[in-house]
Amino acid sequence: MINFKPIELYADDNHSCIMFNDLVTGHGVQANQFLIVSNGQSILLDPGGDLTYMPLTIAAGQVIKTRNLSYIFASHQDPDIIASIDRWLMNTSCKVIISKLWGRFLPHLVSTFVDQHGADIQRRIIEIDDPGQRMRFGKNQVIFLPAHFLHSVGNFQLYDPISKILFSGDMGASIFDSFESIFVEDFAAHIPSMQGFHERYMVSRKVTGLWANMIRELDVEMIVPQHGKAFKGQDMVNQFLNWVAELDCGIDLFSGKNYKIPIV
Ligand code: FE
Repeated sequence: MINFKPIELYADDNHSCIMFNDLVTGHGVQANQFLIVSNGQSILLDPGGDLTYMPLTIAAGQVIKTRNLSYIFASHQDPDIIASIDRWLMNTSCKVIISKLWGRFLPHLVSTFVDQHGADIQRRIIEIDDPGQRMRFGKNQVIFLPAHFLHSVGNFQLYDPISKILFSGDMGASIFDSFESIFVEDFAAHIPSMQGFHERYMVSRKVTGLWANMIRELDVEMIVPQHGKAFKGQDMVNQFLNWVAELDCGIDLFSGKNYKIPIV
């Protein structure tokens, strides 16, 4: 059963951050989708693919008029991130924000009937350069932080200075079929649900450490990944940053043993 109920992560009179965490059915991996609404503008984060398009349209429709959606932010290029881009482009007026490494590939996901003029698709894509950037949003701004190689080569995360939430994409992701609380309660007990994923999907301890140093410079109240549970409060945020900054992962763990011609 799909649960359309919006979960409010933050709300004041002009600004709200909303999460949907139960829109995936069947064999898809559990995923969180996020909507930030601020002074009449809206941004949808990592809306996903075919599996979530309809449920997310219904769920987000409880909060905004989806056809007036201002932006979609895609942290990277994967199917569970942005595969439904053609329908969002066709049915809303949104612009799509993504790394410039991936912007040029997005037209491959867009049917020609969406827009007969290829150039127009490009006009609706905002490409972010490697250093990241700030963008005016509502009466405030959001920050697109570089998170390259975590896991995608061109990868960004969104930090919202109003709610102090870091929308971390795959960083901090954990794998659950269903869960009672959306927040991690016992960090040590939570490690097994995220360790294997980070060891294989993240590129190296060098990069997780550099990223953690950048995040420590921000005032982060919550780290909310695209899969699984969120880290709430400075203590939990710090525990995650310390853990991931010290984690051997990706190429740290690879050697000649991983590059053998298969014999079966
Ligand atoms: Fe991915």
